[in-house]
Amino acid sequence: MNILILGSGGREHAFTLKLVESSKVNTVFVAPGNAGTAKIATNVVISPTDFEAIKSTVLENEIKMVVVGPEAPLVNGVHDFFLADNELKDIPVIGPKKDGALLEGSKDFSKQFMEKHNVPTAKYKSFNNKNLEEGYAFLETLQPPYVLKADGLAAGKGVLILNSLEEAKSELKEMVSNQKFGEASSTVVIEEFLKGIELSVFVLTDGKNYKILPSAKDYKRIGEGDVGLNTGGMGAISPVPFADEAFLNKVEELVVKPTINGLQKENIDYKGFIFIGLMNDNGNPSVVEYNVRMGDPETEVVLPRIESDLFDLFDGVANQTLHEKSFSVTNQTATTVMLVSGGYPEAYQKNKEISGLENVVNSTVFHAGTSLDNNKVVTSGGRVMAITSFGDSIQEALDKSYDSIEKISFDDMNYRKDIGFDLI
Ligand code: ATP
Repeated sequence: MNILILGSGGREHAFTLKLVESSKVNTVFVAPGNAGTAKIATNVVISPTDFEAIKSTVLENEIKMVVVGPEAPLVNGVHDFFLADNELKDIPVIGPKKDGALLEGSKDFSKQFMEKHNVPTAKYKSFNNKNLEEGYAFLETLQPPYVLKADGLAAGKGVLILNSLEEAKSELKEMVSNQKFGEASSTVVIEEFLKGIELSVFVLTDGKNYKILPSAKDYKRIGEGDVGLNTGGMGAISPVPFADEAFLNKVEELVVKPTINGLQKENIDYKGFIFIGLMNDNGNPSVVEYNVRMGDPETEVVLPRIESDLFDLFDGVANQTLHEKSFSVTNQTATTVMLVSGGYPEAYQKNKEISGLENVVNSTVFHAGTSLDNNKVVTSGGRVMAITSFGDSIQEALDKSYDSIEKISFDDMNYRKDIGFDLI
């Protein structure tokens, strides 16, 4: 079977690597992909949100399954587009329809969903330009820090955490009245601040049955000690040592089951990944957010730990037979460290030649912002590549990742040297 993966990051390279290993998969196409996917699959130069171009690619290449990496095509309705088209309607799409994608596309919707289905989460209320005064009054009932969230997608920048009440009020006004984050902030969710340590749990569901995938912890900020600007993610570790069996059992009972049951009650036929961002407060889980796709760079540690055939799991999602599929995960720890372009997440330069990749033997290099220029691998984005390694401990895996990084170089290469240190 031929498969099309939408996206161009390390996450999609990790999907590609797992799928090309499957004996049931012939050719993997990636749209648009990167220099890493070009080596093991066929890149197609189209945008993952250009649905007509996706249709032509699918029909021309006899593609029989589509796997969606990023959220934008899902929120824009790529799955609905397939179902509404006579030539595409029988081709399974791994990723929810627009109704399910609202779990990520609207924070107001996802908070209402959690409240309705008794999923533990921070107390909240939503406000817009019409009830701004009530928003100020609600802020006065909360203790600092104050958490303000733009309802819609804001490229990971729509969440503000503020210490002063005055600042929280003025930012609320900026968001709803002056469209600080455009249309995305015309509604703002204000919620209680949650204490604890963050981690992510990933679920794959066919709408009825589910598999809980390995948990992971990511490192969001650019600077060591987790300081400075937010990034797409600078590294990740799986499994998470503080997510022990008792905690994960609570996550399954209190979060995963009510979420899957809630989707069914709302008649949302959800086929795909659910990324659950959690706070662990003294062993009690509380949901910070849902995403409707895998995380990046978490995928680069979660998928390598899965020993089962990923295609087989996707086949279970497509046919609602996920419960019949075997599923096993290695006990080894996986770590990944992201190499980024100097300056990222602010302005940075591209087209820097990357050398030394052929010398990496103890790690897997997942390409993200890379492209091919006359057969040379060059940088083409802020997050350039994720260096994933295995070990019997976090330390052992990290030592391998950092040793491999010594062998790779490009102008102005930057990375965090403290990934996972808080867990050792
Ligand atoms: P992402 O880039 O992770 O997709 P997002 O824009 O969808 O982010 P959230 O994940 O909801 O937004 O929030 C971003 C970050 O802000 C969280 O990872 C968490 O660290 C922090 N945060 C969000 N809500 C709360 C809360 N109620 N209490 C404490 N911290 C919070």
